[in-house]
Amino acid sequence: MQRSISIFGATGSVGSSTLDLIARSPDEFTVAALTAHSDVVALARIAIAHNARLAVIGDESRYAELKAALSGSGVEAAAGPDALLGAADLDADWTMASIVGCAGLAPTLAAIRHGRTVALANKESLVSAGALMMDAVTASGATLLPVDSEHNAIFQCLASGRIEDVARIILTASGGPFRTATIEEMRAVTPAQAVKHPNWSMGAKISVDSATMMNKGLELIEAYHLFPVGLDRLEIIVHPQSVIHSMVEYRDRSTLAQLGSPDMRVPIAHALAWPQRMASPCEPLNLAKIGRLDFEAPDPVRFPALALARAAIEAGGARPAILNAANEVAVAAFLEGRIGFLEIATIVEEILTRYSPAPPTSIDEIGAVDREAREHAISLLKVARID
Ligand code: NDP
Ligand code: MG
Repeated sequence: MQRSISIFGATGSVGSSTLDLIARSPDEFTVAALTAHSDVVALARIAIAHNARLAVIGDESRYAELKAALSGSGVEAAAGPDALLGAADLDADWTMASIVGCAGLAPTLAAIRHGRTVALANKESLVSAGALMMDAVTASGATLLPVDSEHNAIFQCLASGRIEDVARIILTASGGPFRTATIEEMRAVTPAQAVKHPNWSMGAKISVDSATMMNKGLELIEAYHLFPVGLDRLEIIVHPQSVIHSMVEYRDRSTLAQLGSPDMRVPIAHALAWPQRMASPCEPLNLAKIGRLDFEAPDPVRFPALALARAAIEAGGARPAILNAANEVAVAAFLEGRIGFLEIATIVEEILTRYSPAPPTSIDEIGAVDREAREHAISLLKVARID
């Protein structure tokens, strides 16, 4: 029986990898909704190629363009934030949440509230609204499948034991392009250097997050919500080859690891076929060629984002949402050449210090915290005259 698939953020790196897998098994999948933010040309192209029922562009002003591009194709066109949420109304068997940033929160939550099977790549939504999102999963009976490679690895390792028996979850980190750089070298880093990840090919925002290691901080918070073992059982280790995607140690001191080529189609294929398996076109692991696997402790001095993220989730309340919002603004400013690489973490720390709202108790309140933290971060860029 064919399964229908919707993809939020279909024009991005994760969205494209998902479509690549779907295109290889045309008898097994049909495409319901595909969404993008502003890339009308790519959205229309993939919607037609995959015979989607609906294509939604988030930026309302691009509606006419999308409608024209889809004319005669049989694909319905829609635009704007409400249409984005409406895409979750389509009866999809499996939904990929791969919008980048907290902008993905509302659509992801809409799919969860429908009780759907949701493959989660959009980690920022879980960082900002983790408890409320997990509550929504429980309330609706939705199935949340982790796609972030580390969390997908942990999910696979947890299949052979009980969560009560977990002693430690060890998230691996590549260390990014500046793993061995000096602080002086990091100060001079350009956006082009920061987005050039040594192992993975990803969107610009997550590539910068990997370079600052904020990505691993966000993933620590993501793991905290997905796998309730407690923060003191979550550890991070740098593993430059990105072959082991994470590990679970049980209390008998047996440690399970999931290995694979650094290709997002491996965890996406796992989520797409779950609870079964499907063939993927990914490279088989050639361990003899890889030769060795290295590990080292992360450096808290050159990568302060890790401690900021751990402190944010320890404190709870609005802190993780503030951390995420400030980071999104700072990363965008860095990519635009307005601030230096090391200033990303400085700005996040500064906003966490100066903005301390009451703990949010609803998604609307999370939205308000997210907006206010962004405003603080933007005004900080102005005050510092670095805009
Ligand atoms: P990309 O930047 O490549 O793609 C982002 C997608 O989201 C695009 O389709 C984009 O549309 C859409 N989008 C951007 N802003 C908005 C918005 N405001 N409203 C609605 N849609 C929007 O990102 P990635 O694919 O790299 O990452 C997606 C998510 O997956 C992130 O949360 C990331 O952390 C996570 N992830 C990514 C991995 C990877 O390998 N890339 C690995 C693990 C997790 P448009 O093209 O029109 O701008
Ligand atoms: Mg990851």
